[in-house]
Amino acid sequence: MPHPHTAQAADVSHPAFELFRGDSALMVSMPHVGTGLPADLAARLNPAALSLADTDWHLPLVYDFVREMGATLLVATQSRYVIDLNRPPDGASLYPGMTTTSLVPTETFRGELLYPDGPPDEAEIAQRREQWWRPYHAALAGELARLRALHPRVVLWDAHSIASVLPRFFEGRLPDLNFGTADGQACDPTLTEAVLAPVRAQTDYSWVLNGRYKGGHITRSNGLGAGGVHAIQLEKVQDIYMDESAPFALLKDRAARLRPLLKSCLQAATDWARAG
Ligand SMILES: [Zn+2]
Repeated sequence: MPHPHTAQAADVSHPAFELFRGDSALMVSMPHVGTGLPADLAARLNPAALSLADTDWHLPLVYDFVREMGATLLVATQSRYVIDLNRPPDGASLYPGMTTTSLVPTETFRGELLYPDGPPDEAEIAQRREQWWRPYHAALAGELARLRALHPRVVLWDAHSIASVLPRFFEGRLPDLNFGTADGQACDPTLTEAVLAPVRAQTDYSWVLNGRYKGGHITRSNGLGAGGVHAIQLEKVQDIYMDESAPFALLKDRAARLRPLLKSCLQAATDWARAG
């Protein structure tokens, strides 16, 4: 099934992802935008979950400029309720001691049980890992290797969005833009500064670096710098570009207001990679 968010045909269509190849030193990953749900899974889910409220909605539209920039774009097709592509494959917690959702989530962000008749067992989790998690990560690794053969350094931008208020996970309202570099471990500090320069120069959006969200598994496992890949995650709150209540409509005026800043950040990242 073609992905509803992207008008152009993918270079690689796989049940788990769509891949749009470019040749610049920028790769953008969108692991939580998928809304696919296998029918047998949908039939087992709590009906309250079927609105897929925890999706990172509309990111391909908000970032609609990245392909023109020559970036490579990897877009997940399946809901994070199938499996969370931004969690380690062994299910280890990203934020020990804090509330977070797991590799195969059993609750929504608001604490509703996903499986009224009991959660998936280990065998089912292993099966989903092979069917959905591994292909996405194999594509990601393959593309990073392809781009590294073209460029001495490559930037991996992991794109996310989240409801602005979620009391189970954080107090009050998140800053609008939450940049994560695994506390500086995922990329060179000069990349962080290049990306933040346009953010520091504006006052429309609040922001933080390595606050509540520091970068998930994709940022932490691919961006170690030494291999020439430098990763950064942007978790942004949704109400700066969409309606946070169902049916989660894109607010075009807000998205249009946000887009130039995002574009400046990604252009800065691409320029930084080119200068390396
Ligand atoms: Zn996300």
